[in-house]
Amino acid sequence: GTNMVATEPAAGLLKTVTVDLEDRSYPIYIGEGILDSGDLLRRHVTSKKALVITNDKVGPLYLDKTVKILEAGGVEVETVVLPDGEEFKSLEVLTKILDKALSARLDRKTTFVALGGGVIGDMVGFAAAIYQRGVKFVQVPTTLMAMVDSAVGGKTAVNHPLGKNMIGAFYQPQAVLADMGTLKSLPDRELASGIAEVVKYGLIKDSEFFRWQEGCMENMAARDAGVLAEAVERSCINKANVVAADEKEAGLRATLNLGHTFGHAIETGLGYGKLLHGEAVAIGMHMAADMSCRMGWVDQELVDRSVALMQKAGLPVELPKGGGMDMDKFLNAMAVDKKVADGELRLILLKGDLGGCVMTGEFDEAAMRATIQDFCD
Ligand code: NAD
Ligand code: MG
Repeated sequence: GTNMVATEPAAGLLKTVTVDLEDRSYPIYIGEGILDSGDLLRRHVTSKKALVITNDKVGPLYLDKTVKILEAGGVEVETVVLPDGEEFKSLEVLTKILDKALSARLDRKTTFVALGGGVIGDMVGFAAAIYQRGVKFVQVPTTLMAMVDSAVGGKTAVNHPLGKNMIGAFYQPQAVLADMGTLKSLPDRELASGIAEVVKYGLIKDSEFFRWQEGCMENMAARDAGVLAEAVERSCINKANVVAADEKEAGLRATLNLGHTFGHAIETGLGYGKLLHGEAVAIGMHMAADMSCRMGWVDQELVDRSVALMQKAGLPVELPKGGGMDMDKFLNAMAVDKKVADGELRLILLKGDLGGCVMTGEFDEAAMRATIQDFCD
């Protein structure tokens, strides 16, 4: 009822970032208590019915309050609780979302709500893209990784046994609601994993943001609420700008993959589950910086500053000892990387002053091998 709304606490420290995509533009809200106050979720779920999808780790923490605020706004809510884990980001598991939507007779006006990290967000986004040729969906990211990266920009997908994120669509949400309060239950390693992508934005395009992080990384890693909220906001601004300029990755958007080519090779080579995505990306960014330095594109000082910043965040910057990575594993994995376009391996490398990068196939292969060799030793 309406009196309930009045007694609910208002979301604190609310920031809004807009993803500017003409008729597909949408807001990203960042604030503490968004899932307690409820009005933002109700504002963006305008349908009579909603399907909230989460997993068995996030569900027990936040599903009840999400359902209650929607119901308080008169929305009929159905729910799906999926198993937790990257291994369940599959077409088979996605089918459970569609099964539920159909058996509950949800029509094309339904809104899907993704409550969870990047796995849930990517999967729900793709389910929304294909359910009855497309229904609205709202992202409620509950990991730092999802808040600063996966929930923003409209890349949705599931994995295939032959490759990560190989089945998917570009499909933008109606809104992204980042309740910073949800990060309180996030494990430390997962928090650091998200910070890797925060560091990435500084390195590829925002030197001012990088310098700001150098001044407050200890506080970010210690979960200072103000610092974390600003980190999410500034990351979202960076990502939103890139996505607005190049939604379907004709070029510029690929720079968001700094460290990811080496990182994916590390994830594949060590076996999935050894390192979190952001951890592998952190090592990969160190490798990309090291290679850029070998080619004379950046100074050693920038490599050292990047390493120091990531270490303050609690991220690994070297391969784990005895992990069994070698030159062949790197080269094989990199050859199948999706940035291999028309037979040419392209890498995102740092170039020039802090905040400068390029995507290029014109790099010194000897420098790449030297970097790989050095990291494998
Ligand atoms: P995740 O979704 O697996 O979440 C990490 C872990 O934290 C899981 O166990 C999850 O259940 C748990 N969790 C989530 N929220 C929690 C909370 N508030 N409290 C406690 N535990 C919580 O992983 P992720 O790092 O969020 O996302 C990784 C996925 O995102 C990958 O599948 C990757 O491909 C995808 N991704 C997509 C994009 C994109 O542009 N679409 C970008 C980056 C990553
Ligand atoms: Mg990433």
